[in-house]
Amino acid sequence: MTTQTPPVLALDVGGTKLAAGILTADDMLQQRAEVPTLAQEGSAEAILGRLIGLARDVIAAAPERPRAVGVASAGQIDPRQGDVVFATDNLPGWTGLALGRRLAEALDLPVFVENDVNAFALAEAQLGAGRGYHHQVLLAVGTGVGGGIVVDGKLYSGSMGRGGEIGHVCIVPGGRPCTCGQIGCLESYAGMRVMLPASGYPSLRALADDYLAGKSIPAVDEAAHWLGHGLAQAAHVLGPEVLLVGGSIGLLGERFLADVRLSYAVAAIKSYRNIPIVPTQLGADSGLLGAGVYARQRSGD
Ligand SMILES: [Zn+2]
Repeated sequence: MTTQTPPVLALDVGGTKLAAGILTADDMLQQRAEVPTLAQEGSAEAILGRLIGLARDVIAAAPERPRAVGVASAGQIDPRQGDVVFATDNLPGWTGLALGRRLAEALDLPVFVENDVNAFALAEAQLGAGRGYHHQVLLAVGTGVGGGIVVDGKLYSGSMGRGGEIGHVCIVPGGRPCTCGQIGCLESYAGMRVMLPASGYPSLRALADDYLAGKSIPAVDEAAHWLGHGLAQAAHVLGPEVLLVGGSIGLLGERFLADVRLSYAVAAIKSYRNIPIVPTQLGADSGLLGAGVYARQRSGD
């Protein structure tokens, strides 16, 4: 029996919950635990304290001490030091937090932090729908539209984590205003923040039930149309082997993806049209898995 390298601790920081688990050398997620973020309390120190407490509990319960910590956090992250460059009020006070350094001091372990959508992309690349491909682009479509780029099996996150913002590529010059301050972004045409109110449905679940039963919903057709266009622009810039679509939009299933593929085929240059567009596979633990994979890569695995 060969000696396996020690596992890593994975942490996922979201506006609703904080999750943790141990990612073993054979890709199992163990000692999984979570606590509510309690963002409404309005204190970054309180959130950080809960995160450190959760991490210590999981480390104490693990059969072997992890060798490193990977963190997937909402917000714009500078992955060099693990600083939070910007986060919305979903994580109050998180902007400017030296998250990586604070966790490293508290846990006495090397800590590596990435944006949660980037972690999602890395998880899918290594353990999910992107296995076997070297170059891929992921679009995470939820309230907004996030992007994650994997090149040669590693994340491309640009300087200070600023790469991969495919949701803010302008696809309609002079179009709708976006939350980022620009106009005509993909997010303003394919994100749930716009699509759901335009559809007249109170929730994505209610919309998905009717859509999957065959009902025609113009707001969904429009989102699929623009998502196909956005994916084509990403493909033209990056030339990936595969395009992944994930996030809560996955509830709309194969019918939605089929429409995205039709739109993509119109918008993409001919030689790019055979790039497959596939759904992500990993589900709710993708952030944790990505954080773990990221820690493995950064700590020299
Ligand atoms: Zn934007």
